[in-house]
Amino acid sequence: MSRELKVTIRDKVNPMEVNCPHCQAILTVHPSEAGSLSDCPKCTGKFHIPVPMARPRDPSARGVSGSNEYEVDQEYRDFVGKKVPAGICGILLGSLGIHKFILGLSNAGIIMLVVTLSCVVLTPCLIVPIFGLMSMQVIGLIEGIIYLTMPDDAFYQTYGVERKEWF
Ligand SMILES: [Zn+2]
Repeated sequence: MSRELKVTIRDKVNPMEVNCPHCQAILTVHPSEAGSLSDCPKCTGKFHIPVPMARPRDPSARGVSGSNEYEVDQEYRDFVGKKVPAGICGILLGSLGIHKFILGLSNAGIIMLVVTLSCVVLTPCLIVPIFGLMSMQVIGLIEGIIYLTMPDDAFYQTYGVERKEWF
């Protein structure tokens, strides 16, 4: 036990070797300086001392992402694949909310569909249904354009992860 302790203490005070990125000189630095900005004594160039490889968060992070990396990747590609169909449906059939059903945003899709259908039922009184249909179509159009112009990553994050229902 005392031997183990001694090793630990010695490891802690053991200087580590880093390469200066400017002149490639091998420099010995104290481990506590890792991650901080330092001056190279040989060429006086400034550089960040690299943090040692054995970071405590590395194994756990690898364990989490490693186990379902494929799953997440697959889900991401599936969702991003819906971007163009959802965008086109939003632009062409925006008032029916189909683009929202494609993305799995059923609540918002149902709201759009119900508003549109009630507007159709209300056709005898002219102003209200036309206003309602136009607003639903405009919402769909804008959302369709947003989907199509968004980068894949942002699209997945906004609608796949955060489940943003409107715009
Ligand atoms: Zn140097």
